[in-house]
Amino acid sequence: MPEQMPVEKNDQIDVTFSDLTQDGSGVAKVDGYTLFVPGALPGEKGTIQVLKTKKGYGYGRLIQLTKPSEKRVDPPCPIYDQCGGCAIQHLSPEGQLDHKRQIVIDALERIGGFSDVTVYPTLGMDEPWDYRNKIQVPVATQNGTFAFGFYKKRSHEIVNMDHCIITDPTIDDIVQTVRRIAEDNSIAPYDESKNRGTLRHVMARVGKKTGEVMVVLITRTEELPFRKNFIKELTEKHPEIKSIVQNINPKSTNAILGEKTKTLWGRDVIYDQIGGVTFAISAQSFFQVNPEQTEVLYGKALEYAGLTGDETVIDAYCGIGTISLFLAKQAKEVYGVEIVPEAIEDARKNAELNQITNAYFEAGKAEDVIPNWRDQGIEPDVIVVDPPRKGCEASLIETMIAMQPKRIVYVSCNPATLARDLKMLVPGGYEIKKVQPVDMFPQTLHVECCVSLEKK
Ligand code: SAH
Repeated sequence: MPEQMPVEKNDQIDVTFSDLTQDGSGVAKVDGYTLFVPGALPGEKGTIQVLKTKKGYGYGRLIQLTKPSEKRVDPPCPIYDQCGGCAIQHLSPEGQLDHKRQIVIDALERIGGFSDVTVYPTLGMDEPWDYRNKIQVPVATQNGTFAFGFYKKRSHEIVNMDHCIITDPTIDDIVQTVRRIAEDNSIAPYDESKNRGTLRHVMARVGKKTGEVMVVLITRTEELPFRKNFIKELTEKHPEIKSIVQNINPKSTNAILGEKTKTLWGRDVIYDQIGGVTFAISAQSFFQVNPEQTEVLYGKALEYAGLTGDETVIDAYCGIGTISLFLAKQAKEVYGVEIVPEAIEDARKNAELNQITNAYFEAGKAEDVIPNWRDQGIEPDVIVVDPPRKGCEASLIETMIAMQPKRIVYVSCNPATLARDLKMLVPGGYEIKKVQPVDMFPQTLHVECCVSLEKK
C-alpha cells in the first residue's frame, strides 16, 4: 500500500544490506520495505538516497558506505560502473564463490525444503579473467558517432569499450581490429531506431584448446563494403584467424544473428575440444562459453554417473551433445534429446568426427521423446538432465521416476528450479547424495550445479 510506504523519494537513510540480487544490486529492508541499491554488498552499512518507490519495493543510490564488507575489492575494469556485462567485480573472487554456494543452499532450503543436504564449496577458476571464448559486440550510431561496446544495464545505450577483461585476449584484440578497419573505411554503423546502416555486431570466437579463431561480421545489408580490406588486414595481423564469416540480419530485432551466413574467407567452422572430444563450431552453433569450467562441471557429471562401461544413459537437453559424447566413451550407449534440430545435427556430426558410434540423438521435447523411448523398451541405468533456466517439465520428472534409473545426475543453471524439481524427485524414491556448485561465469551472479541422486 503506497500510504504505508516507510520511505519517500529523495529520502536519505542509513541502511544495512542483507542480500544481493541477480544483477548485483544490494538489498536493504526498511520496516519490511525492500530497497535495491546498485554497488552494495551483503553485510555492508551505508547511507542511501531513495530514487524511486513502487508498491512493495524501491530503488536507491549509494551515497556513502559507512561499513564496507571485508570482501569488497576495487573492480579492475575501468568501465565496470557503467557496462552491463559484469555484476560483481567489486566482490573478491573468494567472496563470489562463497556467495554462489549460499545461493544454492538458500534455494534448496527455501524452495525445496532441504536443510540437511551437503553443498560443497564452489569450484572456481584460479584466474577468473580472460575466460570467455566468445565476444559479441554491438555496433551503433550514438550521438552521431561510431559506438562499439556493451549495453548499459536494462538499456540499449552502448558504453564504449576498448578492452574486455573477462574475454580471451586474442579475440578481445581482434574485435578492436575489426572496429578500426570499420572506422578507417567509414563503414556505416547500425542505427537501431531507423533500421539503417551496415555493421550491427562483431562476433569472434576462439577454440581455447586449438587457438583457432572465427570472426563473424553481422550486417544489416547483403553488401559489405571494403570486404577485401577486412579480410586482408585481419588475416595479416591475426594469423590465428581460420574463418571469416558474414551473417546477414536485415530485421529490426534484438536477435543478434540473422538466417543467412556466407563464408568470406577460410573455413566454415573452427574446432575446439572439451574433455578430449573435438567439436566443430559454426557461426550459429551453440558452444559453451567457458570450456575450462565446462570440463570441470561435466567431469562431475561423469563422476556422479558412476559409469563402468555397461550402462545405458539418457542425456536430456543435450544441446550439441557435449555431455552425451563425454559420457559415451565410458558407457554402453547414450541417448541424447534436444529441442533445437540444428543442435542435434551438430551433435551427430560431432559424434562422427570423434568416431563415437554408441551415441544416438533425437530432436524433440525431452518430455515427449523420453516416454516414447520408454515405450520402445529403452531402460536407462542413468539419466542426466541439463535443462534451461526454467527447469524440467513436471511430466518429464514423472517419467524419470517411472523409469527408476539407478542414478540421476541433474546439471542446473538455476538453483531455484533445481530445488523445485528435486522436491518432486526425492519423494519418487531418490536420495540427494551430493551438490557441487561450479563457477562457469566469474564476475557475474550465475551459478551452475551438478547434483547426484541415487535410488533409495
Ligand atoms: N548440455 C548442453 C546444453 C544444455 S542447455 C551442452 O552442453 O551443450 C539446455 C538445452 O535444452 C538447450 O540446448 C535448449 O535448446 C534445450 N531445450 C530447451 N527446452 C527443451 C525441451 N523441452 N526438451 C529438450 N531440450 C530442450
